[in-house]
Amino acid sequence: MIIADSMLGKLSRYLRMIGYEVEYMDSDKDDSYIAGLSGDNLILTRDKQLHDRAKGSILIKSFDPVDQLAEIKGKMPVPQHKFMELCSICGSVLDKAEKNDGLPDYVNREAREIFHCNKCGKYYWDGSHTENFRKMLGRIGIEVQ
Ligand SMILES: [Zn+2]
Repeated sequence: MIIADSMLGKLSRYLRMIGYEVEYMDSDKDDSYIAGLSGDNLILTRDKQLHDRAKGSILIKSFDPVDQLAEIKGKMPVPQHKFMELCSICGSVLDKAEKNDGLPDYVNREAREIFHCNKCGKYYWDGSHTENFRKMLGRIGIEVQ
């Protein structure tokens, strides 16, 4: 499991889209709690003090989530899941869904595949935004299937 500190919300969502199981730490979790998760988990943090306490953690310097991805790409393990297999909000594995009334017309018309998160109810589909995300990853040298 990847543990991301409270300053890395957007990065957490990107990592889930790539296929990583990420647990995002709310700001009410203190450093001792997060440092206690090191060992079995890989901790990503922007906090130098936490980095010093958490064994094997990665210290992230950039503010921008795309720069953050570029910064950590060579240090990350292989993702546990495929590209766009996890819900970016809650990290649950997505189920395949049929075209349906709850989706905008253009989605039902154009989406190649539709996925649904049973936990938070969000729909995802394979279309231009996934293509843009894939291209953005390509620009910083991250290949996904
Ligand atoms: Zn979800």
